[in-house]
Amino acid sequence: MFLLTMGDCVPLTKEFTKGVCINMEKKQLLYTGKAKKVYTTDDPNLCIFEYKDDATAFNGLKKGSFEGKGEINNQMANFIFRLLEKDGIKTHLVEELSKRETLVKKCKIIPLEVIVRNVAAGSFSKRFGVKEGTPLKNPTLEFSYKDDDLGDPMINTSQALAIGLATKEEIDQIAEMAFKVNESLKKIFLNIGIKIIDFKIEVGKTADGEIVLADEISPDTCRLWDAETNKKLDKDRFRFDLGEFSDVYFEVWGRLNEYYAK
Ligand code: ADP
Ligand code: UDP
Repeated sequence: MFLLTMGDCVPLTKEFTKGVCINMEKKQLLYTGKAKKVYTTDDPNLCIFEYKDDATAFNGLKKGSFEGKGEINNQMANFIFRLLEKDGIKTHLVEELSKRETLVKKCKIIPLEVIVRNVAAGSFSKRFGVKEGTPLKNPTLEFSYKDDDLGDPMINTSQALAIGLATKEEIDQIAEMAFKVNESLKKIFLNIGIKIIDFKIEVGKTADGEIVLADEISPDTCRLWDAETNKKLDKDRFRFDLGEFSDVYFEVWGRLNEYYAK
């Protein structure tokens, strides 16, 4: 069992951490996902994420890892969430506990993968026959039903409402949040010479009923291309065996730190 003390908490930077370090113990393992383990805590409204070094693609069919991936994604996701909070987006983030662990508000996750795109790539290019790299005339929003057994099928609003995945009000709120997150992410990444092509977010409901940005935002969940060379700086390097998988994660994290942690 592990117990954090004040001395163990290593803040990202003075500017990006808030509050004080919290003594919080991991209790029961609630869930083992593809990228993270989720633990309960003494507080029923909080849980602890422990990021793994694993990488998966194609609904878990392809597996890999690199040492330090969990640490990078944890710190990067928290760093980005703090930047989004500065733009008024509510998130589940409470406190980074260690390089790999983070205390978050426990949410009831709305089982929709919320995908926003600025440039055609991936399944969008395949589905609609639009060449990868084609800028879209407007950002698009789509939902997948978050269900590994079904292969996360694409779902529209009326279908999501029909099977009770969310209410109309929740879907409207999610859509508004998704486009707002997109505007912030475009700015955050452009400042470090990166275009955000597309990304996936998850949204949850806290114990007090607030809709917040949950899960993570990292090169696992975004397509990130170098703004000048279009070099892929994300999980596509793993998906399609492009090489330099770990290098690009370190590169994005390095650029974020260099620009924002001054
Ligand atoms: P997956 O379930 O797709 O394999 P992960 O390995 O990232 O994904 O596991 C993390 C799990 O935690 C996901 O199922 C995600 O929906 C869920 N989750 C994300 N944020 C929260 C939160 N604040 N409270 C509870 N569960 C969360
Ligand atoms: N994405 C994700 N998790 C998923 C599916 C998609 O993080 O389960 C992200 C993916 O990294 C990309 C965006 O959502 O940034 C759009 O993915 P797409 O629909 O093109 O699917 P993919 O090509 O990943 O199958």
